Amino acid sequence: MTFLKRVSEYVGDAVNAAKYIGQGMGVVFDHMGRRPVAVQYPFEKLIPSERFRGRIHFEFDKCIACEICVRVCPIDLPVVDWAFNPELKKKELYSYSIDFGVCIFCANCVEFCPTNCLSVTEDYELAAYDRHDLNYHQAAMGRLPSKVTEDPMVTPLREFAYLPKGVIDPHELPAGSQRAGRRPEEILAEMRAAKAAKEKEAKPAAAE
Ligand code: SF4
Ligand code: SF4
Repeated sequence: MTFLKRVSEYVGDAVNAAKYIGQGMGVVFDHMGRRPVAVQYPFEKLIPSERFRGRIHFEFDKCIACEICVRVCPIDLPVVDWAFNPELKKKELYSYSIDFGVCIFCANCVEFCPTNCLSVTEDYELAAYDRHDLNYHQAAMGRLPSKVTEDPMVTPLREFAYLPKGVIDPHELPAGSQRAGRRPEEILAEMRAAKAAKEKEAKPAAAE
């Protein structure tokens, strides 16, 4: 009986193994008919979406050391070093820094800065060997951001949101192919046109 039980277990295992190999090969054969969609980074890079929040850019000359960015930051992250200048009766900014190893890129500081000296960029390549190197001071934050579309060393590829309907591979797209949705500027233009039309309609009514 024990022998027969072992044989039946062995046969069951062999059948299961054959089934799993068959399933695996099914996936392989399915993918053999598809085009590769891998992005050959760093020679190819995807274009970040319009509202992508990357490394924060800082303009030292515009900062008035009000520290609103610190108050709206969920983790009180920006370090604003300033002293009051009694002659000018103004705060004088000495240094400004944000530790991008801790920042959650929520962009609250950017939204609330009263002088617009902060802005989000497309920069996402912030990898460093030492986490302390991610603590950017004003000079590092003031560095101009790079753009995937303007880098001559890189082939920019359209991200999923920019691809025409039904397309998932950004390689070798035919020239002039349009994205599925409307661009933000197109939506804005439509909204402005609708508002202008509404105002135009309201004006004669007011005149009557
Ligand atoms: S909110 Fe803007 S102006 Fe005020 S301290 Fe922060 S960066 Fe400077
Ligand atoms: S992006 Fe968010 S977490 Fe980072 S410094 Fe600004 S407010 Fe703080």
